[in-house]
Amino acid sequence: WVNPVLATTILCGAIAAMHADLSRMTAKARSIQRALYNDEFVLVFQPLVDRTGGIIGAEALLRWQHPSKGMLPPSEFISEAQDAGLMPAIGEWVIASAFRELALWQENVLTRHLSLSINITVDHLMQHNFIDELIKNAKNAGIPASLVKLELTESVFASDPDTIVARMKDLAQAGFKFSLDDFGTGFSSLSYLRRLPLEQIKIDRSFVSAASESKKGAVIARIIAQMGAELSLEVLAEGIETAEQWSIMQRFGCTLFQGFLFSRPLSAANLQRFICENKAASE
Ligand code: C2E
Ligand code: MG
Ligand code: MG
Ligand code: MG
Repeated sequence: WVNPVLATTILCGAIAAMHADLSRMTAKARSIQRALYNDEFVLVFQPLVDRTGGIIGAEALLRWQHPSKGMLPPSEFISEAQDAGLMPAIGEWVIASAFRELALWQENVLTRHLSLSINITVDHLMQHNFIDELIKNAKNAGIPASLVKLELTESVFASDPDTIVARMKDLAQAGFKFSLDDFGTGFSSLSYLRRLPLEQIKIDRSFVSAASESKKGAVIARIIAQMGAELSLEVLAEGIETAEQWSIMQRFGCTLFQGFLFSRPLSAANLQRFICENKAASE
């Protein structure tokens, strides 16, 4: 038995809340929400390489294929999406699409060993069903969790670090891997390095470019890389644009690399082509 007055009050409340949310959304946020429903987002993939230049995986990067403005990078819409609370929904789309691609990679001997790195935001990770959904989606897609690398930035530890750490441990238990993205640009990184079930740190592009520009820049990049290596983490250098940067970061002990020197982010089809050429070149 439901009290009709109460039911009506609750219903009106819910509708009012919906309207309130919509009216608080900026026009930009509404167009981002529409883009999600109109399926205007796409993923591009940037190769990750080892010391020999051999491809070991890729990072999925979000693009908005805007009907009139063309291909938009995340800097054009992610912070608005974040502010409007749309990132969990967009993140779900990203994970589903990334898993679909990773499932395709499983069918080809050239790609079945490659890992796929996916950027995750804190509000998505904090959703109560995030862990169950991720495990379920991986199972349904038929992909091993061990090939999925979740990239978090240091900023995730700003709000509720204990919960985040607990969630990371549960996910690590289920086989997923973690990478700390843009390492060195946040504040909480050093204190959390000990506690987190991390497999990898990604040294931010700003340290890589500084390393080839000044003595001080080189010292900082070298110490970060050395610390990661001594903590038994994979150390990936981001934003490698020149052969000189590649050689410097190798000398500092980085084992993995990502940057325009190797490849820009590619469509799924072009990534397949890149992998075939990369394989042919190494034979
Ligand atoms: P990120 O995770 O640090 O990704 C690396 C960014 O550096 C990408 O920019 C990539 O295109 C760019 N990059 C790679 N190599 C080089 C290089 O040699 N030189 C230069 N100048 N840039 C390089 P992008 O794709 O514009 O993404 C920017 C940021 O947006 C990402 O930084 C990430 O924080 C966020 N992002 C991208 N895709 C997603 C996503 O699916 N979900 C979430 N939550 N965030 C995403
Ligand atoms: Mg990233
Ligand atoms: Mg990064
Ligand atoms: Mg970065």
